[in-house]
Amino acid sequence: MTERYLIQPDLEFIKEVSERGGETAKKCFQCATCSVVCPISPDNKPFPRKEMIAASWGLKDKLVSNLDIWLCHQCGDCSTKCPRDARPGDVLSAVRSYAISEYAVPKSLDKIVNDPQKLPILFAVPVVVFIVLGLITGLLNFMPKGDEVVHAKFFSTWLVDIVFIPLFIWVVAIFGLGLTRFIKDMHENALREGKTTKKELNIKELLQSVLNVIPVILRHDKFTKCSENQDRSVSHMMVFFAFIGLFIVTNIFFVVLYVFKIHGPYSQLNPVKWVANFSGIALVIGACLMIKDRLSREKQVTAYKDWYLLGLVLGLGVTGMLAEMTRLGGIAWLSYLIYFIHLVFVFNMFAFLPFSKLAHFVYRTVALVYADYAKR
Ligand code: SF4
Ligand code: SF4
Repeated sequence: MTERYLIQPDLEFIKEVSERGGETAKKCFQCATCSVVCPISPDNKPFPRKEMIAASWGLKDKLVSNLDIWLCHQCGDCSTKCPRDARPGDVLSAVRSYAISEYAVPKSLDKIVNDPQKLPILFAVPVVVFIVLGLITGLLNFMPKGDEVVHAKFFSTWLVDIVFIPLFIWVVAIFGLGLTRFIKDMHENALREGKTTKKELNIKELLQSVLNVIPVILRHDKFTKCSENQDRSVSHMMVFFAFIGLFIVTNIFFVVLYVFKIHGPYSQLNPVKWVANFSGIALVIGACLMIKDRLSREKQVTAYKDWYLLGLVLGLGVTGMLAEMTRLGGIAWLSYLIYFIHLVFVFNMFAFLPFSKLAHFVYRTVALVYADYAKR
């Protein structure tokens, strides 16, 4: 007998998804063209047609823990072919944005991060934290001595670590809480909807799936399946590998500083510096390409969450490069000022990561691993 399902629309969910760029969901008349043209959708219970009806009916529980919303890479193939201009790609993006907010705590912080009117607060917080902590500890020196421009003389590496190590722990804790709920919900949803037959989560098999998925992510396989928006894979790859490069560089310099006690500034001939510089350039170019792509797509919805992330990525790259260039050029006051602004961007990127669109990297990776495990 067909399973009976009691429909309980969540009107607040419909409103929120609409505000995040998914207001076209109600135009859908369920022709299923989108599910047919989607290059990623599986044959068994394909998406995004069923997600479109769930979004327009406000079936939050069917969507927030739905693995399929994360399999979509927003290529836009379905949106281009939709005869009703219901823009399923944008609707799924809005649902993902909602899901990130659903799993991130505290909710009050999520509301601040996603409210454009609160943007000045997000930038004021690190400014106040840096100045107050810097003055209390004496680790922020507005008048560094000596001819050589050394950022650490102005903003001590100790101060950087006092701020960013607790921040790192905070981010890991928030993701830990969110992902624990997400994995449980996603598994229950997959069982309920017949997307997997595996009743229990097997850690050994999940680890194997992690190994299977890493090359898929590194090669951007899913992006290259798109036909409409394939160029996006280039800019996405540039930003993706830039972040990986900068993460590796930061960790290497952390070890060099605290284990080997070698203080910077480090030579430009140092290979680690090359990685840092290449990553910085890739970040700026990748962010510019992404912004250009967004601006050229009149029909694609770009929500505040998208602009906030793009602005952060570009700001991070530009201030990082300018701080280095002015340092090498010996313009001390300008270099220290730009370095301070750069750290404000780093703080924003890092502290609010679980609430921003960048969190999709974590949730999508987990969903891809689960999809591989569930044989979806
Ligand atoms: S979103 Fe468009 S293509 Fe997909 S089912 Fe609805 S009307 Fe058809
Ligand atoms: S945006 Fe692309 S990946 Fe996402 S559902 Fe549409 S066709 Fe599939």
